This record gives sequence, C-alpha cells and structure tokens, in this order.
Amino acid sequence: MSYIAVKTIDYAGRIVLPKAYRTKMNLEPGSSLLLQIEDNKLIIEPAEKKCKICECNEIVDDTLPICRDCLEKAKKFDK
Ligand SMILES: [Zn+2]
Repeated sequence: MSYIAVKTIDYAGRIVLPKAYRTKMNLEPGSSLLLQIEDNKLIIEPAEKKCKICECNEIVDDTLPICRDCLEKAKKFDK
C-alpha cells in the first residue's frame, strides 16, 4: 500500500497527518518528528529517541535524553 496525500497548510503553518500515516508510523500525540529538506523534498520521519549513553529506546523524557537505568547509574556516581 502506497501512502500519497495532498494536504493544505493552514494559516499557522500546520498540516494534519492522516490517521493511516500515523498508524503506519506509530505516531501518537506528543511524538517527535525530524524534518529535513533534501533535494527540494520535505522529509518527515520519527525522531529517534535513544538514550545518549546506552542507545536503548527507553528515555525518561525529551528534556533528559537518557534512560532510567543510566539515570540511576549516574545518580550513584553523583553521591
Ligand atoms: Zn541508557
């Protein structure tokens, strides 16, 4: 199945991703997207949320890009 859609940008610069796209790409409200312009194409892809230390995918939140395990290890060194 191919996903092609024509969308109109609203006055605030927003577009709505069709539900089929969000489902296919596992995007939920709050998901981060990486936007790139390459060869005159706009590429939108899920932003990688990886722990900066062990590179697992279970980071605590966007403000602290490390996982709970690494956070606990870091706390031990902090004492
Ligand atoms: Zn980690």
